Amino acid sequence: MAKMKLKPGVITGNALQDVFAYCKEVGCALPAVNVIGSSSINAALQAAREASSPIMIQFSNGGGVFNAGKYLDNTNQRAAIAGSVAGALHVWKMAEVYGVPVILHTDHCARKLLPWIDGLIEEGRQYYKQHGVPLFSSHMIDLSEEELDDNIKTSAEYLEQLAKLDMTLELELGVTGGEEDGVDNTQVDNAKLYTQPEDVLKAYDALKPIGKFTVAASFGNTHGVYKPGNVKLRPEILKHSQDMVRKERGLSEEKPLDLVFHGGSGSELAKIHEALQYGVVKMNIDTDTQWAFTRPVREYMDANHDYLMAQIGNPEGEDKPNKKKIDPRQWLVAGEKGMTARLVEAFDNLKSKDQFDLGL
Ligand SMILES: [Zn+2]
Repeated sequence: MAKMKLKPGVITGNALQDVFAYCKEVGCALPAVNVIGSSSINAALQAAREASSPIMIQFSNGGGVFNAGKYLDNTNQRAAIAGSVAGALHVWKMAEVYGVPVILHTDHCARKLLPWIDGLIEEGRQYYKQHGVPLFSSHMIDLSEEELDDNIKTSAEYLEQLAKLDMTLELELGVTGGEEDGVDNTQVDNAKLYTQPEDVLKAYDALKPIGKFTVAASFGNTHGVYKPGNVKLRPEILKHSQDMVRKERGLSEEKPLDLVFHGGSGSELAKIHEALQYGVVKMNIDTDTQWAFTRPVREYMDANHDYLMAQIGNPEGEDKPNKKKIDPRQWLVAGEKGMTARLVEAFDNLKSKDQFDLGL
């Protein structure tokens, strides 16, 4: 099969569905990486360039706040909205310069955070008016802790708004275990960690007539990295959902759903590969890239310890200046390089490395 050709820039609307369809056909997925500012965004863009693949760049609510500045007042999600928009504009500009296609997304949004997405949709409407395309490719609404009917009803209301902007919705059915960025599901009942195919069918029936959506389904996946053996991944659950929707609705497509794998960090490679066969098009990665950024920074600090004790004076002489070692760019670059390398590995694990023709 010929490699899919893609232009640099943010992928939106039907072009995004084409990318997902291609991923399912060749059996690959794209890494979706959480970013918190220009350092992590640029590290992600560089990784996409090296892997010759589109990448998904996403802001969590906390990531948006951090990009705005932690000391800013976040009343009515003001800082989260502004920080997410500023990050998105950085991506729009730099994706062209790096020559890579990007899917711009926002991560988990529970009911109490909906004013954040409301603000982003409003910003998205303005952007759409000016440019004829949405600011973000997609948003995620995560009401997986609520009753299924409430989850689907609210998701449908949001999808109606997103569809008008050529955007895609990600919803969650079943709960991702573990804890991440204020989303704490460590105490959730075990049965909820495995999505029921009946629930997926119900969501499919409600959302399909409205617009484009992806489903984060739970098959034992967790946020964070834990001791091996603590997590029991059962990717066959994803297959059951695909099969049920196909059979019950008489579809010809083998994998009618675009599925999302949350909590990809620390997952067993064989289970990741199995999930790819069942129509996973996106795998979230955060904890592993956080570690990949922080570890080289620690190594830099350790290696240069004696040069970082004061502005003047080091093993080469007590009047020698340390300006070059102190410059934050030195250790930020080390972190960026570590994150890029880990993401290239993720592309490889997800079989999307060198799977696209970016004309680079
Ligand atoms: Zn997640």
